[in-house]
Amino acid sequence: MSHPTPVMVHTPAHSGLGAALTYDSPTSLPAGTLVRVPLGSRELLGVVWDSDSTALPEDIALRPISHCLEGMTPLSPNWRQLVTFTAHYYQRSVGEVALAALPNQLRELRAEQWARRLKRKVKASGSDAREGTAVPQATPEQVQVLGHIAANPGPFLLFGNTGSGKTEVYLRAAHEVLSRDPTAQVLVMVPEINLTPQLEARFRERFAPLWGESCLVTMHSGLTPAQRLNHWLAAHSGHARIVLGTRMSVFASMPGLQLIVVDEEHDPSYKQQEGARYSARDLAVYRGQLEHVKVILGSATPSLESWHHSRPSTDSEPAGRYMRLHMPSRVGQGVLPLVRRVDMNRQPYKTVFSNHLLDAMRERVTRGEQILVLLNRRGYAPVLHCTDCGWKSECPHCSAYRVFHKLDRTLRCHHCGFTQGVPRACPGCGNQDISPLGRGTEQLEEHLGELLVDVRRPDGTPLRIARIDADSTRLKGELERQLAEVHAGAVDILVGTQMIAKGHDFRRVTLVAALNPDGALFSSDFRAPERLFSLLMQAAGRAGRDASISLTQACEMWVQSFHPQHPLFEALKQHDYPAFAHQQLKERQEANLPPFSFQALVRAEARSQQAAQDFLSAARDAGAAEADQALIDIYPAVPMAIQRVANVERAQMLLECTSRKALQAFLSHWQAHLHALRSQHKQVIRWAIDVDPLAI
Ligand code: ADP
Ligand code: ZN
Ligand code: ZN
Repeated sequence: MSHPTPVMVHTPAHSGLGAALTYDSPTSLPAGTLVRVPLGSRELLGVVWDSDSTALPEDIALRPISHCLEGMTPLSPNWRQLVTFTAHYYQRSVGEVALAALPNQLRELRAEQWARRLKRKVKASGSDAREGTAVPQATPEQVQVLGHIAANPGPFLLFGNTGSGKTEVYLRAAHEVLSRDPTAQVLVMVPEINLTPQLEARFRERFAPLWGESCLVTMHSGLTPAQRLNHWLAAHSGHARIVLGTRMSVFASMPGLQLIVVDEEHDPSYKQQEGARYSARDLAVYRGQLEHVKVILGSATPSLESWHHSRPSTDSEPAGRYMRLHMPSRVGQGVLPLVRRVDMNRQPYKTVFSNHLLDAMRERVTRGEQILVLLNRRGYAPVLHCTDCGWKSECPHCSAYRVFHKLDRTLRCHHCGFTQGVPRACPGCGNQDISPLGRGTEQLEEHLGELLVDVRRPDGTPLRIARIDADSTRLKGELERQLAEVHAGAVDILVGTQMIAKGHDFRRVTLVAALNPDGALFSSDFRAPERLFSLLMQAAGRAGRDASISLTQACEMWVQSFHPQHPLFEALKQHDYPAFAHQQLKERQEANLPPFSFQALVRAEARSQQAAQDFLSAARDAGAAEADQALIDIYPAVPMAIQRVANVERAQMLLECTSRKALQAFLSHWQAHLHALRSQHKQVIRWAIDVDPLAI
């Protein structure tokens, strides 16, 4: 007997092969079965898809399926629906999304290797329970929040300061689900796993004593291909009760899924920035709805989208579709730091650290306390500059400046990676005296060292300054090593970019300083203030976590700004996220920006800016009538903020609509025009649609 079988393989959206391909199978295979199939001269991994998905006519001679991956349960209907939804919503092909969601090794393993792998997996899984540690009594706020979670369908927005006990709520909600049903599974999502090692440790500590070390697996890009496959199989088979992962884990196959937690739900790294540009946070909410499982989104500074979706009802408007749960207090002693603003207009020209701030830092270090100095990377990139002819260290391939790295004396482009030694003299005029313009973290570290050279720690030794940023942590394990030094108290002042503001638990930090955060106040990106506020709140949350530090001298957050009276800093001073959100949402509503409208961005890359824009304009014309009817605004094509990268010109075009549905429907029709136009615009290298873009 011959069975025509639809199979999804990885065909990128651009290839035009969007649908499943039909193969021949001697037996009827259930949808979700993993198979290997021939395509051209290659053999590819594919997933047997639902029978209504085939587009190819059945009268052509079908090639046979090469073989099935034996011993594996088919991927569930829910999993397939999640993939289909993602592909449609983010305007990609189903095959691309499906195959990208599976571990690479699954694609590469041959039949014999696969059989061996399955055997090994069974051997490896065993129980190795360890001693448990005491579980704290839940606080009244935690009890109340957990009561709401138990009694309502969600999704929930858990709004609570850093240190308010959100993680403890996740742990208890997970425990509740896992202990009730031995097949239950929980998905816990985090923005970046190596920035929050404590979270994994806390989940292990809580659950390994109950169900063994192997009850928890992680999923993130730092795993080896073999680890990734093993962890994926553990989740798919149901052996792993808890999956802790970054955005990719939203696609984990978990047959027993009963709870999804999205920690730091506002974090931009939940948005995938290439291929299918999905928002893992939004997909988590969709998946929760699809699988009838509860979803908890947690944050001290929620995204304005989630804040809006969780609005309480008013006289004129019903409540949003999320349930907002608030935990206003910090657990135990923790008080939020006092926010102090330094008016930089009153400081001498070119001041980097005001004297008041330096004095405060001296005092803290002398007492044995720790300090974080937070930099806005963008505003600080040091560019080499010739004072005679005005030459700057432009990248020859990009419309951007290359940045001066003192350590290895190079000029490096942060966009295309182009690196060269620093020229001895100005390439423009031969002047020997070229100097950096602006300050990088590297220079700041050095400068601070000079300013505080006379300061001693309580034991009389000189103070130690360390720097953590993308450069200092490029080597594997380096971030962990540096963090451990800070935790151990070997470092007094930590200088860094937003990396240091995330979930670390720096217990002895009592002062956080933000230098020059003003750029975000006046950025052309309407989300910049939201990101700055959340960064500063996160950073403030780092301070004052150690009960052993005397609180007679309260913890402080210092902000040096030329606009100290700005409402953003006023709200920060009061630790008042709701006030900030209220003001921002009002502005967004007046300007009809998200969450009050929905956006999509089409980007095109070509050898010339004109060609990229021509393509977009043609696409705009092709869709104009339909867009008009659907009340969709298509803005004119413009160059991207960084117009040229690696000699490729980039342009973008924004679409906006108050109805998500209308925009969706339009995009799926319009895609066909874009594909067709592409063949007439030969200079276009690639194009892509970004639905709900995070940066415009
Ligand atoms: P968040 O995730 O909101 O930052 P955590 O859950 O990490 O907060 O809690 C902050 C600190 O308070 C942690 O050290 C945690 O161990 C402690 N903590 C949380 N809940 C309790 C509780 N019910 N009793 C005692 N300590 C708690
Ligand atoms: Zn470059
Ligand atoms: Zn010059």
